[in-house]
Amino acid sequence: MYGKQLPIVDVTRPAPAGASAGSATPGKHATFEYLTTRKDELVGWARKFSLFPYPFVTACCAMEFMAVSASNYDTDRFGAALPRFSPRQADLLMVVGTVTQKQAPILLKVYEQMCEPKWVMAFGVCATSGGFYQNYASLPGIDRIIPVDIYVPGCPPRPEMVIDGIMRLQEKIANGRHPIINDRF
Ligand code: SF4
Repeated sequence: MYGKQLPIVDVTRPAPAGASAGSATPGKHATFEYLTTRKDELVGWARKFSLFPYPFVTACCAMEFMAVSASNYDTDRFGAALPRFSPRQADLLMVVGTVTQKQAPILLKVYEQMCEPKWVMAFGVCATSGGFYQNYASLPGIDRIIPVDIYVPGCPPRPEMVIDGIMRLQEKIANGRHPIINDRF
């Protein structure tokens, strides 16, 4: 198991003196389950296992994106198996490949169309820093125009690196604040 455990824990309490069998008072070695009292923790746990990626795919990193999405690497284990092809239905923007200056406004528009909460992964060195494209046409990293939550290096990154990136993002989500939920409840 990785990341944070399910926020349901077992506890064993000793029976208080005088407790009889069958009473409502917990007996010795009785096992109880309770949910965390922190809403942030519970919501973070649920959200980290229900990621809906939107693949913004522009270049050769797409081959590795297809590899990591296939059955061999099974991203379903991380709750991130179903790509959405509308940004309005997605909460994880995966920017896969080189982004040119001309594509930058399109990427920004896609990001703005996503509802909160949302996260961004820079998939490969081109999305992270422009990679070896040191020229006037390429964007030297997508964080020049949108915030990035997780950077996955490599040209292209191996599927294991992408999975590691997803797991680190899950940790970030689980440990983060979820203020919209807190305000409403
Ligand atoms: S990081 Fe490498 S594989 Fe990925 S888009 Fe750039 S040049 Fe292609």
